[in-house]
This record gives sequence, C-alpha cells and structure tokens, in this order.
Amino acid sequence: MKDTLIISFLVIISLTVAAGYFFAYKALKPVEEIVDKVGEITATNLDKRVPVKNENDEIGELTTTFNKMLDRLEASFNAQKNFVSNISHELRTPLSTIVGELQIALIKDRNTEEYRKIIGLALNDAKRLVRLSNGLLDLAKANYDAAAISTKELRVDELLMEARETVLKANEGYKVNILFEREIEDDNCISVRGNRYLLKVAFINLIENACKFSPDRLSSVAISYMDDKIILRFKDSGIGISEKDLPNIFIPFYRGDNKDFSQGTGIGLPLTQKIITLHNGTIQVSSKVNEGTVFTIEIPHL
Ligand code: ADP
Repeated sequence: MKDTLIISFLVIISLTVAAGYFFAYKALKPVEEIVDKVGEITATNLDKRVPVKNENDEIGELTTTFNKMLDRLEASFNAQKNFVSNISHELRTPLSTIVGELQIALIKDRNTEEYRKIIGLALNDAKRLVRLSNGLLDLAKANYDAAAISTKELRVDELLMEARETVLKANEGYKVNILFEREIEDDNCISVRGNRYLLKVAFINLIENACKFSPDRLSSVAISYMDDKIILRFKDSGIGISEKDLPNIFIPFYRGDNKDFSQGTGIGLPLTQKIITLHNGTIQVSSKVNEGTVFTIEIPHL
C-alpha cells in the first residue's frame, strides 16, 4: 500500500514536472523565435521585420510594437543617410567650382582685372561654404536634447530688433519693418524662456528669406500675443511658394521652384522649424505665387 502511494506520488510529480516543461516550452517557443529573428536584424538589413503569427495575443502585440519601432528606426536611418549624401553634394559643388576657377586663373598670366574677377567668384563660393557649415553647426546644436541647451528669459521684440540689425548689416538694400499689433502690457506677455542664439538664428532666417525672395527686398514682422502665447508673422510681398513646394520646404536641403531667384542651401527652414519646436512653439506657412508669403510662429510666453 505504502509502495503504491510512493509510486503514484512519484508518477504524479514526474507528470506535473513534464507538463510544466511542456507548457513552458510551448509558451516560450514564440519568444525564442522572436529572439532569433531580432538577432538577425542589423544596421545593414533594417528592412527586415519579425513575422507576426497572431496579432491578438500578447506576443503578437509585442512583435507588432517591435516592428513599428523598426519602421521608425529605418525611416530615421534613411533620413540620416540622405542627409549625409546631401551634405557631401552641397560641399562638393562649391569646392570643385573654387578649384576650377583657381586652376583657370593659373593657366596663364592675366591682368589685375581678370584676377579680381576670378577671386570674386571664388570668394562667393567660399562664402556659400561658410554659410552652409554655419547652418549645419546650428542644426547640430538645435538637435541637442532640449535639456542640454542653456535658456533664459528673453524679450522677443528685443531679439527681433537684434536679428533685424544683423540682417541689415549683412545685406545692403534689405528693408525690415517691425510692428506691434497690440500694446505691450507687461514684460511677460512678450518674453519667452529660450536660447538667445538659436532664436535669433530662426528670426534671421525668416527675415532673410522674406527679403531675398521679394523684388522689393522688404520683410515685415508683426508682433502680437494672446493669453498664453506670442504670435509673430513674417510677411513679404514676394514671389511666393508654389502649392507643390509648400509641403516640402521644411525638409532639409529642399529648395523650391523659385530657388533661382536667390542663393541658398535649403537648411534655413528645417533649422528654423527645429528651433521653434525646441521652444515648444509651432511654425506655419501660407503663400500665394506672385503675391507673397507669411510664416506664422507661435511660442508660449512666460
Ligand atoms: P534656402 O537656402 O533655399 O532659402 P530655406 O530652407 O530657407 O532654404 O527655404 C527652403 C525653400 O523655401 C526656398 O528654397 C524657397 O523655395 C522657399 N522659401 C522660403 N521662404 C520663402 C519666402 N519668404 N518666399 C518665397 N519662397 C520661400
């Protein structure tokens, strides 16, 4: 009797252990498969996805979430690749022009006037390179973690005046009007917590664009505010942006149909957008070809 009890006990224990192993194996098998598949995904085959067997169970949900994360990673990886190849292209063009111009200058002796002309051309291309590298540096700064950027309380109208001065100093013939649409009742309604340098870069970009894409070279900035935010409108009566270009102008290196009207790099607006987002603000554009463009910025005030 005692032996029978012991044997049955052992048999039941063994069966329980075996069943435990079996079910644990069955439950963990899909996880193991996922681990194997995930292990195969590297930077060179980011387009691979983990197959989803049943979307409705927890493992299926985990796999779907993981695949969505891969979608985002792949998109940002591709954007990064495009960005680098765009930069290389943007650097190579003015550099090879400079080399070409200087080589031509050296082929034979020339008079002072000719040398002046060639130096002028090379200088123009060198300036383009400086603008591009400054823009890229600012873009890198604006890509920092918001917490890593130093901020303080700033009056936006003062920053706009400084931006105006910088634009006028650098571009002969440009005109910038700044107007208050509402009386300033206290400092706070026109002040933000932000990074002085970056905000000024954003304002300079918008003012310069307005002037350079307008035959009258005039940019008007209207300042207003509401209970919680400052509203700035950068207006021009210039050549405008085509409907086809409007959705794309914030993409790095994108330049619209109207690009031949003026020199540029295509990083001004993406940089500006990045800076405004960093300040928890928004930027919107409305434009009509041959009538003009308005960029509207809204930033929370103090
Ligand atoms: P860019 O160096 O070409 O000015 P941006 O990133 O500043 O580069 O602007 C991207 C494109 O948006 C420009 O190439 C131009 O087509 C268009 N754009 C921006 N601002 C204006 C404006 N005020 N008027 C007309 N077109 C504009």
